[in-house]
Amino acid sequence: MIVYMDTQKNNGRRDFLRTGALLGATVMASPLSTFSSNSSSSSKPAILGGRSIWSDKQWPQWPRWNPETDERRLLEVVRSGVWSRGRTTAEFEQKWAAMVGTDRSLAVVNGTNALATAINSFGIGPGDEVLVPPYTFIATVSAILFNGAMPVFVDVDPATFQIDPRKMAAKITSKTKAILPVHILGLPADMDAIMAIAKQHKLLVIEDACQAHLAEYGGRKVGSIGHAGCFSFQNSKNLPIGEGGAITSNDQLFMDRCSSYHSYGLPAGSFNPLDTGMLGSKLRFTEYQAAIGLVMLERLQEETDVRHSNATYLAAMISEIPGITPYQLYPKVDKGAFHLFPFRYDPSGFSGLSRDSFLTALRAEGVPCSGGYVPLNTQPFIQASFNSPLFQQLYPGKDVDFQSFTEKNQCPLNDKLCEEAVWLTQNMLLGPRTDMDEIAMAIGRIHHNAADIVKSLPTN
Ligand SMILES: *Cc1c(COP(=O)(O)O)cnc(C)c1O
Repeated sequence: MIVYMDTQKNNGRRDFLRTGALLGATVMASPLSTFSSNSSSSSKPAILGGRSIWSDKQWPQWPRWNPETDERRLLEVVRSGVWSRGRTTAEFEQKWAAMVGTDRSLAVVNGTNALATAINSFGIGPGDEVLVPPYTFIATVSAILFNGAMPVFVDVDPATFQIDPRKMAAKITSKTKAILPVHILGLPADMDAIMAIAKQHKLLVIEDACQAHLAEYGGRKVGSIGHAGCFSFQNSKNLPIGEGGAITSNDQLFMDRCSSYHSYGLPAGSFNPLDTGMLGSKLRFTEYQAAIGLVMLERLQEETDVRHSNATYLAAMISEIPGITPYQLYPKVDKGAFHLFPFRYDPSGFSGLSRDSFLTALRAEGVPCSGGYVPLNTQPFIQASFNSPLFQQLYPGKDVDFQSFTEKNQCPLNDKLCEEAVWLTQNMLLGPRTDMDEIAMAIGRIHHNAADIVKSLPTN
């Protein structure tokens, strides 16, 4: 049964019914039927004064730290006095490259600078255009702007939450240098389609895998499919080190350039900038970051498998509820990393209860949740970049006119997605199956009582 759950994709109701039949109705009851037949006071939602499903429940802690098993390596490093980059960092890089499936990996200070370094080291800069989704964390776009390059937004496929490769061709010009797909929420973007477009137009592909550690597409880990992959090890991420990041690639010269750039522009491997000159930054990892990272690496695969399996189970359950549409995965996705668990919410399935009120009601049940991203393509930081001396002096006025930029970069499907999305965080997927049942029940209870909740609210 576990094998069945692990391999099934989220195909909605039909799969849920099959799964339900396999597992037996008592083990995996439909959240709808549970609550339609439940007339006890516990069925009253918490927002209407009912008992919250999880009043005294703790979600799995994040990050995880076990002093007995996890501190030995860290103490060794601290006591050695070798705190700057050294052999612990080299070991972490080797292990990370092996797990992702690339020849090389370079650890850097964070995911933002992993992206900025990769963009810089491919020689992408002023006058160049980079295709990017609007449904991502701000740092994806900042990394393009830092380098003086121009982000070009490609709308999303709301079913998968990912950049839509079918919308890319129309955005490619003679200035396009790269595609920066983001495996957002930890779910793989459609890499076969993206690589095919990149090949046809001779574009580089830099994967933003900052949320997608060990996610798999077509038998390969994300971050190993494009020309380079970028990861974040910030505290909330699935591989947490507080701060940290990495670049992965099989391109030796590119990795040497990244390595040089991340350490003052000093010579690195076969790349010797002393002949030509090279402007470098200083973005090096520390040994104690690497010591923590090595501990986290040991349980990452197992945690990833648990998240994928629980997410698949939860998605099948809640797809039963009218108005709830869980994420879809592309057919070639073997595994999602589920940094976040997403679904789309439609008020019309909930007697008109607005998304914000739904979030409030779900939180009242003890289930933390959020509405996720706002559209990035219209945010003021882009205008601020365009007004900076860098952009003002590098680009003709019409290219850095924010109004014409936002007109060219409209992404209507993403605008709608940002209004419909609901996220749960990755740590909530690390508990037992019964946690998933409880989440589904909380949503089912709100659904069942939606009309009463709407009536009770002064504004909705
Ligand atoms: C977290 C994140 C980043 C930036 O990583 P930091 O380590 O926080 O700098 C970039 N892109 C995405 C999609 C992220 O989620």
